[in-house]
Amino acid sequence: MASSKSNDSEKSGLQDSNAENNDEEKEELCPGFKDVDAFVKYGLGAVLSATKASAGLPQAGDEYDFYRSFPGFQEFCESQGDKLLHCMSQIMRHHGCRSHIRDQSKLTGLEERFDLVVDSNDVILERAGILLDEADGLNRSQQPVMPAGFQPPKIVVSSWNRKGSGSSSRSETFRLLHAKNVARPQLKFKEKVDNSNTPFIPKIFIKPNALKPLPSYFTNKQIQKERPEDVDVPAALADFIHQQRTQKHVEDMFAHPYQYELDHLTTPESLLTKPEPQMYKPIAETKCSFIDTLEDLVALNEKLCKLSEFAVDLEHHSYRSFLGITSLMQISTRDEDFIVDTLELRSEMYILNEAFTDPSIVKVFHGSDSDMDWLQRDFGVYVVNLFDTHQASRALNMARHSLDHLLKHFCNVDSDKRYQLADWRIRPLPDEMFQYARADTHYLLYIYDCVRAQLLDFNHGQPGLLQSVWNKSKDISLKRYLKPIYTEESYLELQRKQKKSFNTQQLTAFRLLFAWRNKLARQEDESTGYVLPTHMMIKIAEEMPREPQGIIACCNPVPPVVRQQVNELHLLVQQAREMPLLKAEIAAQKTKGLTTIKKPEVTLFGPHDTSRVSESDLPQFSPNELPVKKGMLFSEDEHQMDDDDDDQRTCGLTASAKITLFEEPETKKDQESLSAPHMKARRIIESFENPFRMYLPTSDVHISKNAKFDPSSKIFEISKRWKLQSMEEQQKELEAKKKAKQEVKEHAKKANEERNKEKQSYQESLANVITIRQQAAESVKSGGKKRERVASLVGESTPRPTKKQMKSAEKSEKPEKSEKSEKPEKPEKSPQDVFTPFDYTQSDLKVFANPKSKDNTQFDPNRQSHDNKKKRGPKGQKSNFAAGNRSLSYLTGRSDRGFRHNWPKR
Ligand code: AMP
Ligand code: MN
Ligand code: ZN
Repeated sequence: MASSKSNDSEKSGLQDSNAENNDEEKEELCPGFKDVDAFVKYGLGAVLSATKASAGLPQAGDEYDFYRSFPGFQEFCESQGDKLLHCMSQIMRHHGCRSHIRDQSKLTGLEERFDLVVDSNDVILERAGILLDEADGLNRSQQPVMPAGFQPPKIVVSSWNRKGSGSSSRSETFRLLHAKNVARPQLKFKEKVDNSNTPFIPKIFIKPNALKPLPSYFTNKQIQKERPEDVDVPAALADFIHQQRTQKHVEDMFAHPYQYELDHLTTPESLLTKPEPQMYKPIAETKCSFIDTLEDLVALNEKLCKLSEFAVDLEHHSYRSFLGITSLMQISTRDEDFIVDTLELRSEMYILNEAFTDPSIVKVFHGSDSDMDWLQRDFGVYVVNLFDTHQASRALNMARHSLDHLLKHFCNVDSDKRYQLADWRIRPLPDEMFQYARADTHYLLYIYDCVRAQLLDFNHGQPGLLQSVWNKSKDISLKRYLKPIYTEESYLELQRKQKKSFNTQQLTAFRLLFAWRNKLARQEDESTGYVLPTHMMIKIAEEMPREPQGIIACCNPVPPVVRQQVNELHLLVQQAREMPLLKAEIAAQKTKGLTTIKKPEVTLFGPHDTSRVSESDLPQFSPNELPVKKGMLFSEDEHQMDDDDDDQRTCGLTASAKITLFEEPETKKDQESLSAPHMKARRIIESFENPFRMYLPTSDVHISKNAKFDPSSKIFEISKRWKLQSMEEQQKELEAKKKAKQEVKEHAKKANEERNKEKQSYQESLANVITIRQQAAESVKSGGKKRERVASLVGESTPRPTKKQMKSAEKSEKPEKSEKSEKPEKPEKSPQDVFTPFDYTQSDLKVFANPKSKDNTQFDPNRQSHDNKKKRGPKGQKSNFAAGNRSLSYLTGRSDRGFRHNWPKR
């Protein structure tokens, strides 16, 4: 909508004309405002400027402290603060909420005041929902009978909920706002969403514009067997089974399919010289097509393939889905705009890879970090030759780097981002949203011209700065989508963020609720925020209600899933009550044990995946920084540990791994002398995961196997380093390194020669394969069944095998079979009779291992490339080498934009 309001070329702007109409029809709604629209507009403006003003305040820390040294500033802050609090408590009182905000002591009351605000917000939003419902002719009190304690489901109030303007009638706009009225697009997806707690594997099955062919894993359905996706299968087990099947292909599976092409992408001279900015066409004179059929998509792809650049943006929905859904794709060329219904064309979007991976076509995005994730996750689409205007804005050091700002700066267009958080699943797409979406890309190619020109000017005509933007953009396109992985410790991270101090019972409740919420969200394919908003979860954990009704009372409004499962939740709370009660150890929450590693939104492939930490960070845990604090659960234990200096380091989980690395017998002695409570304590502590357990010679190895097999994981190196503790081995390693270096050099030479050969032969073979374009065209003719047909042309029957068939077989048969063959091979196993682990993490996952791999379940890239040399000849050798090593060195980072699809918090 942004554009349509400000751009003078648009007298078609619906809002303005409507406002005038209203003028005649209605009297003033309230003093100074002729109608709701005017009021809302004014209100939003006020809120916006307040937000801006607050963002403009001096930052906490140095700046703020400095300003505070001026009494005038101090006074001003205080009076403004009082004013604000007064204003807030008035609003709260108006809505009948508690409002002691102002009376509370400033030091202690902050937390409670925050709760008050959250509660009040809930009440107010719920009211708004009810009133909007009524305006829509829907009376809540007439709804079907609900269980006791029922409260109307929360209504998602987004910015676009405001009364619609222009031609869209009032009732239409209101109707749209009910999330419950939006059909779940997931139901129509041809391929079920994979919410399993397993790492993401690229969806690609055909690779246009390849310099290096797609690994056989993706084209051969024999290899590509489904992993168990039942959310009830313990994650580690599911991972493990899957890995056993696909061990040979792990490098391929996790590598970026276009890594090779991107590594060999160079910016042509023409893109480093100053362009003459080509003005965008006025919106009113630009054709905009809505693409929701395969035929149109194919035609679009054809058009794009002929261009030298086009602009792209995506809209995303994350509230009613676990991982999120890409709901819309906007594409603008110099002459036309397109809006692609990606809900409808989800499984056909891969067609666009032909244009998107064509290195001779520039794809212009703004702030594309999340877009890269979404494209890969939902469509298997990749981008080769990306230009990100957000990166350009950074390089130019502009005042702000948002698209709004660029639009204002270069196009003098006032945009309005209020639809950004709209429910993009709504179909048919309301005109306002359509216009808004289109404006996101319409001006982007012009901006692309302008920033390139400026980047060159800035640098006195030298291409360095511009080249750096091309490079940064390439880095973003090299990013691989990583699924968020749930670990035993995920709840601690959230708890730490909330800065809540829980006692042992509360912490247990929080952990159980967190696990429940995660499981439900996966099962139901909802966001965790929809299942149970964090603030409600905290409230339940804090209050630990004795009755199910009490749980309901903690939630306002009650999330539908909570209402359904209130008894289940009640059992969890009861379970937590059975924990011995100890006061909170606040320090434990504030420790940085994991936070040095943590990047909460980044997928961790194991609870202690260290793939994103620099090596020097690793061995520096001190017992005080442990994620699971020693003695946190049992004070007796703590006592003993404090007494015994030597023992101190062996008590905490991590610490014990460090010291007792080769000292099994001592541990045993310890255990023998333990009393019953000590034993229990130990058992509990042992049930947590030891980050370094995988480096121990014990048999109860448990780490996420993914970490070891994921080529991006540093665990390759780290595990080696930790295993090679003895001096001899370190020396051996040194020698091996020297050798390896030489080999690498030779290898690189060979690889280069072979690459050229390969490229040639691949191009030849490509000529025999029917192009996507032809395939799609044919499938349009034959109607339906597109995916199957295309796949068969690639040479396989279907790239997406049906699920479930494998599940039961895998769960029962495989483990048993391999158990027999594996067991005798491990006589050195340490006795397990000392304590009985009670969760699957303790079971010996190695028993499922390929008997051939013996005790070495660690992934060893060197070993693999050797194997491949033998088996696959020079061809396989080369590709493995290239892909594996490179992805090892590339650590994905996420910009703050990556957070966004986690937004549903209430
Ligand atoms: P954009 O690239 O600005 O059009 O944003 C693309 C998508 O990112 C939107 O459809 C939203 O789903 C999401 N998004 C953008 N901004 C935010 C935000 N501030 N908070 C949460 N989600 C956002
Ligand atoms: Mn975007
Ligand atoms: Zn957008």
